[in-house]
Amino acid sequence: MRKLTIAIDGPAGSGKSTAAKRVAQLLNYDYIDTGAMYRAVGLAALGAGVRLDEAARVEEIARGTRIELRWADGRTRVWLDGREVSEEIRRAEAAQAASVVSTVPEVRAILVRRQKEFATHGGVVMEGRDIGTVVLPQADLKIFLTASSEVRARRRADEMAGRGEAVHFEQMKEEVIERD
Ligand code: C5P
Repeated sequence: MRKLTIAIDGPAGSGKSTAAKRVAQLLNYDYIDTGAMYRAVGLAALGAGVRLDEAARVEEIARGTRIELRWADGRTRVWLDGREVSEEIRRAEAAQAASVVSTVPEVRAILVRRQKEFATHGGVVMEGRDIGTVVLPQADLKIFLTASSEVRARRRADEMAGRGEAVHFEQMKEEVIERD
């Protein structure tokens, strides 16, 4: 049977990754967490001491950094130039850096090109806010998932609390709205 490309879009905290991972597991497809790629670039920029508002420097980092994603046993592992950063990219600093670097058009262009390559042979569930519109407009199936800002903030807060990080729900809600 032909292997499909499936795009799952939606704002932060809407449940995209939970849905995407489940579908990938059920179909035995690859799962591409595009947020992890933006987080990796954010982390690389922080690690290099680059100011996140210096678009040209951030672009250089995005161009020169090798990001590897491996999806196995229901979990995405990430390497940055050969160094595993699977845990680090989940921290709040990486999330904040990701949302800043993702506003640089050249960074988006670089990552979008890589994401398109990942999907060339099908058998992929790709998730992110621009997948059905920009990355895989020809996807066999496109899903747009959303939820109220309240529910989305709650989900993000629970994720952070689960990692033992301090969370303020109201602040989380403002951040969710801000990121959108
Ligand atoms: O989904 P996740 O929280 O891992 O994404 C981190 C950040 O990366 C998002 O807040 C968003 O700013 C950015 N992002 C993006 N486009 C994507 C995926 C993530 O701009 N396709």
